[in-house]
Amino acid sequence: MKYYSTNKKVKPVGLEEVVVKGLAADKGLFMPEKIIPFEPSFFKNIQKLSFQEIAFEVARKFFGEDVENEKLKKVVFDTLQFDCPVVQVTKDIWSLELFHGPTLAFKDVGARFMARLLQYFLAGQQRQVNVLVATSGDTGSAVANGFLGVEGIHVFVLYPKGKVSPIQEVQFTTLGQNITALEVDGTFDDCQHLVKTAFLDEELNQKLQLTSANSINVARFLPQAFYYFNAYARLKEQGALAGKKLVVSVPSGNFGNLTAGLFGHQMGLPIHQFVAANNANDIVYEFLKTGNYNPRPSVETLANAMDVGDPSNFARIMDLYGHSHERISSIMKGYRYSDKDIREIVLEAYQKHNYLLDPHGACGYQALNEYLSEGEVGVFLETAHPAKFTDIVESIVGKSHVPLPDKLAAFMKGEKKRAAIGKDFEEFKAFLLK
Ligand SMILES: *Cc1c(COP(=O)(O)O)cnc(C)c1O
Repeated sequence: MKYYSTNKKVKPVGLEEVVVKGLAADKGLFMPEKIIPFEPSFFKNIQKLSFQEIAFEVARKFFGEDVENEKLKKVVFDTLQFDCPVVQVTKDIWSLELFHGPTLAFKDVGARFMARLLQYFLAGQQRQVNVLVATSGDTGSAVANGFLGVEGIHVFVLYPKGKVSPIQEVQFTTLGQNITALEVDGTFDDCQHLVKTAFLDEELNQKLQLTSANSINVARFLPQAFYYFNAYARLKEQGALAGKKLVVSVPSGNFGNLTAGLFGHQMGLPIHQFVAANNANDIVYEFLKTGNYNPRPSVETLANAMDVGDPSNFARIMDLYGHSHERISSIMKGYRYSDKDIREIVLEAYQKHNYLLDPHGACGYQALNEYLSEGEVGVFLETAHPAKFTDIVESIVGKSHVPLPDKLAAFMKGEKKRAAIGKDFEEFKAFLLK
């Protein structure tokens, strides 16, 4: 399968280049040239398949022309070593829990898949690939854990000293093996600047094969379609869909997660309506209402992984629906929530339904409460475990109401190892070359 750029200024390229490069040469986002739908019969019996089996069928539609079946199956099954279950919260609202992976957030799925697909393309080659990633917290942990132990790939995680939470820091500094954590004496922007400069540095690129594990990478974003299909299957299995229409609500920042769901929909997945839940960074909410897309600098909120002022996947959504505001605003309804709303929602869901939401999932949950009508059943994507935001969630529901999952506790016990560097590029370069 070939992939074209949303900017359409370069020729379509193959999957290997797409995965290694991430972004098209004209700075557009890669899109598959075709979306292959399933036969309706697939959805009749989908509940008989396991999550891994469903994911493999979905993966074959995207990657089946480029990766042999057995290899692709291994990539998918190795990626999904954890479940993405649906859990009932109210009569008609279910939570799709995406926090059962190694770093307790949905980005584990895409990061693990990308690592294994990259490894597939590197197999048999002598070269080592170096992944550079700048993080303000969560991306670093998902990427580092996703690539942990994957042969032929070394990951350098750059993070700003003193500016990530202790729980985030241990998730990429205690791993060892092929993961190197670099504590930068500077801000997140300094980290990002170092990484960007490295990609442009001729000598570095001559001596080292560098790549990014950016969230816009096709190999990180398309696998997110897997759990939409699984949610449908598991809801069907439990009889929750009987005669009802399915509504899916997605707490959104860069809109990669939601866009993956739209791909699923185009492959025939019976989703009646998507709901996009924003925090105060409501650029897409405004677009859906007015047709005007006005990106602006992001503001900080309690749901900080959704603090995005110019969602990168918006270009994919526009492309998918022929730039038609009418089509986009019909498949997708927008809602937005302030920090004050988020606090009230988390408290209400906990007190009334004994379900602990994280600040991101809270937006998704509430959007369903507002949208759903008779004859519909809703599922929201619970994108992270509430314990990843212990301070915030405890300040809402009270201390000792947010148990620390074993996986996070285990990270806390590990030995922190990192190298310290300044924000000067030459120092970073020397470190990479040694
Ligand atoms: C990254 C992230 C989001 C936003 O997902 P997008 O694909 O960027 O829209 C939402 N919640 C959590 C917890 C995240 O880490």
